[in-house]
Amino acid sequence: MRTVQGPTDHVVVVGAGLGGLACALHLAGQGRQVTVVERELLPGGRAGRLSVDGYSFDTGPTVLTMPELIDEALGAVGEKLTDWVELEPLDPAYRAYYPDGSTLDVLTDPMRMAAEVSRVCGPREADGYLRFVDYARHLWQLERNDFIDRNLDAPTDLLTANLVRLIAAGGLRRLQTKIDQFFRDPRTRRIFSFQAMYAGMAPHDALAIYTVISYLDSVAGVYFPRGGIHAVSRALADAAEKHGVQFRYGTTVEQVETAYGRATGVITTEGERIGADVVVLNPDLPVAYRDLLPPTRQRKLRYSPSCVVLHIGSKQGYQQIAHHNIHFGRAWKGTFDEVIRRGELMSDPSLLVCNPSRSDATVAPDGRHTYYVLAPTPNLERAALDWRGDLARTYADDLMRTLEQRGYVGFADGVEVSRIVTPADWADQGMAAGTPFAAAHNLFQTGPFRPANLHRTLSNVVFTGSGTQPGVGVPMVLISGKLAAARVTGGQR
Ligand SMILES: Cc1cc2nc3c(=O)[nH]c(=O)nc-3n(C[C@H](O)[C@H](O)[C@H](O)COP(=O)(O)OP(=O)(O)OC[C@H]3O[C@@H](n4cnc5c(N)ncnc54)[C@H](O)[C@@H]3O)c2cc1C
Repeated sequence: MRTVQGPTDHVVVVGAGLGGLACALHLAGQGRQVTVVERELLPGGRAGRLSVDGYSFDTGPTVLTMPELIDEALGAVGEKLTDWVELEPLDPAYRAYYPDGSTLDVLTDPMRMAAEVSRVCGPREADGYLRFVDYARHLWQLERNDFIDRNLDAPTDLLTANLVRLIAAGGLRRLQTKIDQFFRDPRTRRIFSFQAMYAGMAPHDALAIYTVISYLDSVAGVYFPRGGIHAVSRALADAAEKHGVQFRYGTTVEQVETAYGRATGVITTEGERIGADVVVLNPDLPVAYRDLLPPTRQRKLRYSPSCVVLHIGSKQGYQQIAHHNIHFGRAWKGTFDEVIRRGELMSDPSLLVCNPSRSDATVAPDGRHTYYVLAPTPNLERAALDWRGDLARTYADDLMRTLEQRGYVGFADGVEVSRIVTPADWADQGMAAGTPFAAAHNLFQTGPFRPANLHRTLSNVVFTGSGTQPGVGVPMVLISGKLAAARVTGGQR
């Protein structure tokens, strides 16, 4: 495994996103002196916090899987997850709503879930579900150690016995094709394949190796931390601080200072120089290359679709919903084509609605409720929609109308507080192509083909976060923090 060259005693980590925080913990655990320089006044980056009039909203991730990776990051400094975050397994993990009026709960326990699939789609579909669980678990076991939780320097690193097994298992076929081998009902086909969107791909274009996202999501379990997902960011930052990591909040890095093929420190927008033996960069990778590093030729990346998020604080509660609700429109392939290929807004939207106040009353004033509505949209490279004009407000109104039609009676009337976040806002926060989901996970942007976590020419600059390997999402960026730290310390991974 390649590592940085030269001394590694003092590391400056730019950004306290989950990638930067995990990296800082692993470095501190290996005896490095670490300074985290973060532009915002709080940790977490995309896993941040929006507080308005007594309501608290998670700004990004809502579906938390693989808490053992949070435990691993805390374990690097000898801390335990259970001492820092109160996690509740969500049951159901999701509730799916279909255009024919039926609903399906996604339950983590395979036997209970088989019964639920049988209730909605019949016993034969339940058998398919149980075969799917075995298959997805098998893929996860093949992929985890060899391809995800490992620093890959070259495509030849992929040549392991597990690659052969993965190909034999159909891992390089299309995800939807593979899912359709287990399921016949359009409802199960959707609920176990929509997760391809988390990897920035339509299910009929994504590789079947990404079935592991459906596995983590639907089988391994979804959790909710008391206080919201931001509680995880807070815990990682506080544990790091307890173990000697220095945080400089409200400090923006303008440039990485370099000399003779090495980084020598960072310069802040206030003109302060913070010297470093190694610099780890957590901002979105293409933007870090563009704005913080000396110019180099960059390959053109294909970006994931983006999203609009509507945060609502409301007087209105709904008994019939769960914590996570997925409302599928009638269209399926056509919806992906609109957003990903044609650069259009969904004409028949499929939406994720979260209702965190259902699990944790502390996120809303007494008797009030919080809703988080996520609608996939084209990214700004695919469609230069006028999000800074009237579109943001009219789209928010459209979304609320759609929700009313899908059973959220009186939704608009209940609104006390609302905020809309659009691709233009993601771009303003420093995310390439105005998407918070980074480069898409197509074959040529996966594994060793994804932008590397070591700078090509600056021998002591390392990247962490969703723009580099292994990829996007909370579990992957926590792993990316560990992999980045290993590039510095020469540790196992
Ligand atoms: C709306 C939304 C929904 C999502 N849903 C899920 C989900 O349900 N489940 C899931 O697993 N994942 C989800 N994700 C993805 C997940 O949140 C991200 O992949 C992950 O949080 C990215 O972490 P990161 O460390 O790569 O980057 P970031 O969180 O972006 O961290 C980068 C940090 O660098 C700081 N920074 C940037 N530039 C500078 C500078 N010049 N100087 C100093 N500091 C700087 C930023 O302020 C930020 O704190 C979602 C994301 C969003 C936005």
